[in-house]
Amino acid sequence: MASISNRLAKKLNLEQHGDIIFGRANDIFFNVRLIKAELKKSYSSLIERLLAPKYETAHIEAFAYANKEVDLKEINGFIEENYFIYMVDNLKYRDNYFTMFLSKNDSININPSYIADFLTHFSSYLQDNSYYSACHICKSNDNISCIYMPSGRMQEICETCRLKNADM
Ligand SMILES: [Zn+2]
Repeated sequence: MASISNRLAKKLNLEQHGDIIFGRANDIFFNVRLIKAELKKSYSSLIERLLAPKYETAHIEAFAYANKEVDLKEINGFIEENYFIYMVDNLKYRDNYFTMFLSKNDSININPSYIADFLTHFSSYLQDNSYYSACHICKSNDNISCIYMPSGRMQEICETCRLKNADM
């Protein structure tokens, strides 16, 4: 896992916290987690086990606001149009983020370049459709830093909100 995460982080200049790879691509803030493949019982030999895929899927969260109603149908249209390139399933939007699973297409393990390409492509699509990332409390973009939330995510926070929260 270290190598897939490290290579992905390096490709897009992302950071890592535990198993979370996070940061912005095209100004959209992401959390990415690689999901361990299940070891199938049918693998009988050691060689089979060693060659078995270890990471086949990435769980992706894209934190994005919009100054309009979030149009999940429109986003799903983009996902469907590109499904032959990026195998994305289970797209949802909660409070302020999109969540989805990206499955590998033609490699044994999910490929860092493939994940990076998807993040670049998807973030540029969101940006073109007036979505933006910002402080998760006040939606400002002043002096943004990242904090680890009790929800198990890295989230962006502005300096003012960070100082206010530190007082609580
Ligand atoms: Zn704020």
